[in-house]
Amino acid sequence: MSNQVKYLLDENDIPKDWYNIMADFKNPPSPPLHPGTLQPCGPDDLAPLFPMELIMQEVSTERYIEIPNALRDVYRQWRPSPLHRARRLEQALDTPARIYYKYEGVSPAGSHKPNTALAQAFFNKKEGVARLATETGAGQWGSSLALAGAFFGLEVEVFMVKISFDQKPYRKAFMESFGAKCYASPSTLTEGGKAILKDNPDSTGSLGIAISEAVERAVQRDDTKYALGSVLNHVLMHQTVIGQEAIKQMEMADDYPDIVVGCTGGGSNFAGIAFPFLGEKLRGGRDVEIVAVEPANCPSLTKGQYAYDFGDTVKMTPLVKMHTLGSGFVPPANHAGGLRYHGMSPLVSQMVHEGYVRPTAWHQTECFAAGVAFGKAEGILPAPEANHAVKGAIDEALKCKRDGRSKAILFNLCGHGNFDMAAYQSYASGQLTDDDYNDQELAMALAALPKVA
Ligand SMILES: *Cc1c(COP(=O)(O)O)cnc(C)c1O
Repeated sequence: MSNQVKYLLDENDIPKDWYNIMADFKNPPSPPLHPGTLQPCGPDDLAPLFPMELIMQEVSTERYIEIPNALRDVYRQWRPSPLHRARRLEQALDTPARIYYKYEGVSPAGSHKPNTALAQAFFNKKEGVARLATETGAGQWGSSLALAGAFFGLEVEVFMVKISFDQKPYRKAFMESFGAKCYASPSTLTEGGKAILKDNPDSTGSLGIAISEAVERAVQRDDTKYALGSVLNHVLMHQTVIGQEAIKQMEMADDYPDIVVGCTGGGSNFAGIAFPFLGEKLRGGRDVEIVAVEPANCPSLTKGQYAYDFGDTVKMTPLVKMHTLGSGFVPPANHAGGLRYHGMSPLVSQMVHEGYVRPTAWHQTECFAAGVAFGKAEGILPAPEANHAVKGAIDEALKCKRDGRSKAILFNLCGHGNFDMAAYQSYASGQLTDDDYNDQELAMALAALPKVA
């Protein structure tokens, strides 16, 4: 067999619908709660933040939701994305496993995020919204929304976690090239940001803080809505184009994954690849093992509690039931691997809680080592986040080698790392360390979880 094996679909194979896993849940999901009353939130409570069509997607229990043709037309720029067989990696590992990866780095922003950024911009534009406010951690989401704003004629305002803002100036330049504004968070533009800076002028920021700032901007102004790049049901659903395509591509390969692996920050790229396969299993189809990989430094699935918590630090967002480290949790500052959110998508959390998904955690240096090994074999240097998925897949492939079993392993290579050379440089020069988060701080953040009856 050739070393370059790639499964390509036709443009007509871009999925016509998004897949909503809630339709296949055995147990109903726990409803989001209003931050003030702690009563279940209705669609009206979310209306200041999101356009109605996205709110209806958020609460829908329909299995399929149609992708508008105008949007599929934009997806055509890079979708369907390729599925590769990682033959050279298999040889390098000397494993009997068959390793496949779905490559989302072919999108214009270099990650899976445009799948939802474009959808969110599309529905906001349709309902007459002029401006979107959002947060970004490593900068991938801000870049994707900036691009979507340029495509659909929306202003975009991005609050970027300060530590990344300082470490990744090219990200700001990227966003600004597409006409977006990018501010370091915490900022003095919002009451929430000012309050944090008053307590801690040297705050390096967190996703929870940046979310508070973006939400505050959206609530303040009638022409502005909020966009979130992960966590929410509708965001995960938009990413299911990935797994639906992968199902067809695995058919082309005349194979089916025994194991599907994805990295988890807020859960969206993981859900994108895993939920369409998991849905088949939930409906009585083929069995598949699903593995989520998170950073040992920000371990919501493996060390957090499954409980109601706020999505942000200033406690403005609705409470959702999820695996959380507490909304006050801030991962160690030298953590370069992304995936820094304190919580996890409620849908992914429920699937972990019910035992359908096996959560694992790895340290950042071993993930970078896996990413470099992958890059040498396959020629693509993964995003630091994606290195977690690579590490998870390699670990499964090495288990196959030990057991002398050939399994099919599919993982989501959710983005390339071409913007992340500073992190690779730190890794190569030995500056990345595996400092653990502070146990005491985690205990405090968990003790401060809201008390919900
Ligand atoms: C944002 C991002 C992630 C983390 O977000 P999820 O919602 O967990 O997917 C992972 N990988 C890449 C490349 C990203 O840009």
